[in-house]
Amino acid sequence: MSEGTGPAPVLRFAPSPNGHLHLGHAYSALLNARIAERWGGRLLLRIEDIDLGRTRPEFVAGILADLDWLGLRFPSPVRRQSEHFSDYAAARDAMAAGGLIYPCFCSRGQIAAEVAARAARGEAVPRDPDGAPLYPGTCRHVSAADATARREQGAPHTWRLDMAAALQRLAEPLVIRRFSPDDGVLETVSADPARWGDAVVARRDVPTSYHLSVVCDDAVQGITHVVRGQDLEAATDLHALLQRLLRLPAPAYHHHPLIRTEDGEKLAKSKGSESLADLRARGITAEHVRARLGF
Ligand code: GLU
Repeated sequence: MSEGTGPAPVLRFAPSPNGHLHLGHAYSALLNARIAERWGGRLLLRIEDIDLGRTRPEFVAGILADLDWLGLRFPSPVRRQSEHFSDYAAARDAMAAGGLIYPCFCSRGQIAAEVAARAARGEAVPRDPDGAPLYPGTCRHVSAADATARREQGAPHTWRLDMAAALQRLAEPLVIRRFSPDDGVLETVSADPARWGDAVVARRDVPTSYHLSVVCDDAVQGITHVVRGQDLEAATDLHALLQRLLRLPAPAYHHHPLIRTEDGEKLAKSKGSESLADLRARGITAEHVRARLGF
């Protein structure tokens, strides 16, 4: 691959414009750029703006300005997920027609109450890799006729993966191809999507979720290598399953360590970590940021 024998690699940097970029994003973008450059590949930018309530135009503008400041250039047009809801809806509908997802009418409060009731009865409450209790499966048992009637009445609903049904469809073991950014060497590991339970594939407000959009877009954009933070490593198990169910090609993955603050905390927009724009305003140069991150 790094010898230039196969097709040229295609990578992507895919930030969500619900805040400003920080050093962790810069590291991820620069690592993607370095790999693309070393392997004679291309790096695409994708704006993951399905969260219409949290996306703001100034965050999109900030991302473009920060990446430019870092010296990164991307081919146009830049794909914006909010412009492709009909593609995701088609994928969702195909999964619904195949009996792989079901509508879920539970509110967050109802799910929390059901989980608490189970715990009070002494039942085990398994958690997903992010620590959230697995969906207890309440709406999996709603009859098709009842679910259709409720949807026709306009009842708000998400669409959840029927994990047991999905796993039964797998003719071959589900694997993830991992690659090393140093020498391109691949290893294959088995995926365990069951740990996500009946995950939400399409939200109430938009016909998609992070997981569904990401696998659709990686396929549409011809992404061969995904380079992203270790905080998304477990999600790859679910992405591998969705790729198989939707018959999409599966890229190879590298999950890089997260950049931490000096006291070992993960950088996060929500924790008010200093943004690239803050650093720039303090007179810190892009060269300094690149050097600090090892580029
Ligand atoms: N949009 C995601 C984020 O900003 C990254 C998605 C991905 O790289 O798969 O965390």
